[in-house]
Amino acid sequence: MKHKGLVRTALCSAILAGLMGCTNAEVETAQVQNWEQDKTYHLTILHTNDNHGRFWHNQNGEYGMAARKTLLDRLRADVEAQGGTALLLSGGDINTGVPESDMLDAEPDFKGMNLLGYDAMALGNHEFDNTLDVLMQQQEWADFPMLSANIYDRESGERQFQPYQIFEQQGLKIAVVGLTTEDTAKVVSPENVATLEFRDPKAEAQALINELQETEKPDVIIAVTHMGHYVDGKHGVNAPGDVALARYIEAGDLDMVVGGHSQEPVCMEGPNMYSKTFRPGDECRPDQQNGTWIVQAHEWGKYVGKADFEFRNGELSLVNYDLIPVNLKEKVTQEDGSSVRVFIQDEIPHDQAVSDFLRPFQERGQELLGEVVGETTGKLEGDRNVVRFQQTNLGRLIAKAHMERANADFAVMNSGGVRDSIAEGEFTYRDVLIVQPFGNIVTYTDMVGAEVIDYLNVVATKPVDSGAYAQFYGVEMTVENNQVSDVRIGGEAIDLEKTYRFTVPEFNAAGGDGYPVITDHAGHVNTGFVDAEVLKAYMQENSPINPADFDPQGEIEYK
Ligand SMILES: [Zn+2]
Repeated sequence: MKHKGLVRTALCSAILAGLMGCTNAEVETAQVQNWEQDKTYHLTILHTNDNHGRFWHNQNGEYGMAARKTLLDRLRADVEAQGGTALLLSGGDINTGVPESDMLDAEPDFKGMNLLGYDAMALGNHEFDNTLDVLMQQQEWADFPMLSANIYDRESGERQFQPYQIFEQQGLKIAVVGLTTEDTAKVVSPENVATLEFRDPKAEAQALINELQETEKPDVIIAVTHMGHYVDGKHGVNAPGDVALARYIEAGDLDMVVGGHSQEPVCMEGPNMYSKTFRPGDECRPDQQNGTWIVQAHEWGKYVGKADFEFRNGELSLVNYDLIPVNLKEKVTQEDGSSVRVFIQDEIPHDQAVSDFLRPFQERGQELLGEVVGETTGKLEGDRNVVRFQQTNLGRLIAKAHMERANADFAVMNSGGVRDSIAEGEFTYRDVLIVQPFGNIVTYTDMVGAEVIDYLNVVATKPVDSGAYAQFYGVEMTVENNQVSDVRIGGEAIDLEKTYRFTVPEFNAAGGDGYPVITDHAGHVNTGFVDAEVLKAYMQENSPINPADFDPQGEIEYK
């Protein structure tokens, strides 16, 4: 931490100033220096990120806010016993990922965070999956600030959200600055963010830090971000993340980055090298760039990160870091060859009050899953012995839902991701989850026509009777001798130089089913939208569904 032009004076504290007749200059200095000379302060930062609707534990009893509360209480008690204080921060993306939470606009998640004592969070891109009025409602639910310094209202040119929060602990001033990835504008529905401008978080952070050093004069500055951690700053197709931020900020200006978005445990083997062998419960050394510590606690509340700092004579140093698993399990093979899941560490009991508070939300979510969300006037075909052999109305409907959500030109959907049919009549969210139970994420990729043809040459020639066999929407072609020809997109012959956008599930984008790996393609974007939610929303909006509207009309001609 840098203290520009600061002259230390041990005699004149702000309290003593009035009693002892200090000079004006001394009083001013005394107000600047909040800490006592040669005193060691213990300050702990607890953190999580990318909650994504996981207020409740999973079916195996892993993570969940009730167990997290017990753990946090224990950690805070330890810190207090040492005479220290703690702050609890979240790297954002509280929204989206679990139907029970999604259907309740993440009310249990935000209210649960109140019970767990969160002090502040960064706004993540998924906070914009809903319209802004939902986010405003969530801000009301939250007893803690939702921070972002780099999101502006287009019209007024003013910041849309609170940019920072000052915490005073043990007489120290701790500034927490919020930052949000510029990619937000790319990955959410444009109408949700039409009034907003996502400015470069690096430049915004430096400007705000300079301002704070003049006005608030904090002793410690922490950025709580939702920008992603990319090793050695190699952010590829993503907007620059935490490493780029730490390197950009003037050395000594930023003590710590509490991150999110890339959903990794940031545990380093050495400089600019992830630990490849990290397993839950192992020691974790966070990243350090340009003097700034960078931490991230994977996702979903699977871990609580704990950074113990000592602050002495204006210097902050990290003395210990832990990434503590929250009831994570591993599979263990038994003598008879069967496997069971066992806790990696001692089971953390659920906090009764948090559990009691959240249970009605979980039950309400379960109820809502069984409520009718729409109807179909005929069978939507997803039977395995059909959907893996030919284009079907359900395969094409799923593809179209993805295409519309991502504003894409066409869609590719592996038939292995279609697990059941939907019968004629009314359907519920639960019926949709039976069709798409894997929580696969919709991705899109922008490619020029020539690349599209290379891609289709692989995915459109996958054999029938396999999950790789692809369902398509928005594209027509002839498939013959392991090659495609006469490719038409949106009804027009493909232009080899024009850029097209298509969707494909993340599983396949990463090479699943033998599809080409495109996650490293410059035009690839992971939207974070879960397939079942996308399908349910599309079917709800277009109910009643007429299956004939989605029947294939010979778009794909196999010769
Ligand atoms: Zn994110």
